[in-house]
Amino acid sequence: MKVDWLIVGAGFTGATLAERIASQMNQKVLLVDRREHIGGNSYDCYDDNGILIHKYGSHTFHTNSKMVWQYLSKFTEWRPYFHQVLSVVDGKKIPVPFNLNSLYELFPPRYAEKLEELLISNFGFGTKVPILKLRETASGDLTFLAEYVYKKVYYEYTLKHWQLNPEELDRSVTARVPVYISRDNRYFQDTYQGMPKHGYTVLFSRMLRHPNIKLLLNTDYRELIGAIKFDRMIYTGPIDEYFQYKHGTLPYRSLRFEFQNMNQEYYQEVGTINYPHEYDFTRVLEQKHLTGQNSRHTTISFVFPQSYNPKENEPYYPIPREDNRKSYGLYAKEAEQIKDQVLFAGRLADYKYYNMDQAVARALTLFKEIAEKKI
Ligand code: FAD
Ligand code: UDP
Repeated sequence: MKVDWLIVGAGFTGATLAERIASQMNQKVLLVDRREHIGGNSYDCYDDNGILIHKYGSHTFHTNSKMVWQYLSKFTEWRPYFHQVLSVVDGKKIPVPFNLNSLYELFPPRYAEKLEELLISNFGFGTKVPILKLRETASGDLTFLAEYVYKKVYYEYTLKHWQLNPEELDRSVTARVPVYISRDNRYFQDTYQGMPKHGYTVLFSRMLRHPNIKLLLNTDYRELIGAIKFDRMIYTGPIDEYFQYKHGTLPYRSLRFEFQNMNQEYYQEVGTINYPHEYDFTRVLEQKHLTGQNSRHTTISFVFPQSYNPKENEPYYPIPREDNRKSYGLYAKEAEQIKDQVLFAGRLADYKYYNMDQAVARALTLFKEIAEKKI
C-alpha cells in the first residue's frame, strides 16, 4: 500500500488535516489511531443507559474564530448551548467564573454591595481579572475578597487537579477562568458557542467520509512502519513518546472518570459542578445538559485527577510551566530537523493546553503552509 500521507491520531488535529489534504489537495491519506474510535479526546458515544456521554470528560465547543466555526459548520449543525458551572464553596453552589452573582450568593447583601462597588470602581464593569492579578492589586476590603476567592475557588481545586499551587503554573492556567465583574453566569463569552447537533463522533465521521481517506483504528502507527509506503507523516501524539523519551518524559496530568447511571431525569442543576474542597474528585459532569437529550435516565461522571504513567493511563493535560516548556524545546528542536519527513501538531505534539478550536486553528494553519509548500 502507498499513500501520500500517514496521519497519526484521529482527534481534531489529525482529522482536520486529513480532511483538508484529501479534499483540497486530492492526495491520499491513511489516518491511524491506536484507540478503537475516531474523535480523540472529543469522542462521544451512547452508553448502556442510552445516554450520549463524553468518554474523556465534557467537551463544550466555544470559539472567537469565525474561520474555525465556519469550517466545522460544513460538517455539523449546532445546538445552541451556553455552558454554566457551579462550584461548591462554604456549602453553597456559586457560579464560576466567580462574578457579581457569586458575591451575593456568599455574603450578606450590604457587604456584597460594598464589594461590588469596589470591584466596579477599581476594575470597571464587564472586565475579567485573573485571580493572581486581583491578589496583587487588591487593597482594603478587596484584599479580603481576593484572598477569599483565591483560597475557596482556586487554591485547592488547582492543587487537586495539578498537584501544584496556582503560582507554580503559568499564570495563563488560572487566567482561563478569571474573576468576571459582571452578572453573566456563562463559563465562556466567546462569539460562537454550541454543541454539534448529533454529537462529536458524527461530526468526525462526516469529516472523514472522503474517498481519499483510509482509516485504521486499534493500531499504533509504529506497527505500520516498513509495512506501508508514504511520502510524509503528520504526528499528533505525545512528542516525547515519538522520540522514545530521549530527553526524558514530559510531565502530563491524567484523569480517571467514574461513570454512574441514574434512574432519574437529571442529577444536578448544570452540566458541571466543581468540588474544590470536598472529596478526591474535582468535578461532577452531566452531559445531558450539553446535549439536550430527552430521556428519563441520566449518566453522570466523577472526575478524579491522577498522576500520569505512560503504561497505565492517558496524558490528558500538558503542564504549562517554564521548566516543562524548556524540556519540550529539546524535542521541538529534534522535530525541526526531520520536518521534511514528519510534521508535529496538536495538544500532545505541540505540548500546549489547546482547546478544541485552537487545535482546529493550528491544523488549518499548518494545512495552509503545506498547501502553499512553505513547509
Ligand atoms: P487528541 O484529541 O488527544 O487526539 C490525539 C490522538 O492521537 C488520540 O486519539 C490518540 O489515541 C492518538 N495517538 C497518539 N499516539 C498514537 C500512536 N502512537 N499511534 C496511533 N495513534 C496515536 N476543549 C474545548 O474546546 N472544550 C472543552 O470543553 C474541552 N474539555 C476537555 C476536557 C478534558 C478532560 C480534556 C483532556 C480536554 C478537553 N478539551 C476541551 C481539549 C480537547 O480535548 C483538545 O483540544 C483536543 O482533543 C485536541 O485534539 P488533538 O487532535 O490535538 O488531540
Ligand atoms: N480553576 C480553579 N477552580 C475552578 C475552575 C478552574 O482553580 O473552579 C483553575 C484550575 O487551575 C484549572 C484552571 O483554572 O485547572 C483551568 O480551568 P478550566 O475549567 O479551563 O480547566 P479544564 O476544563 O481545561 O480542565
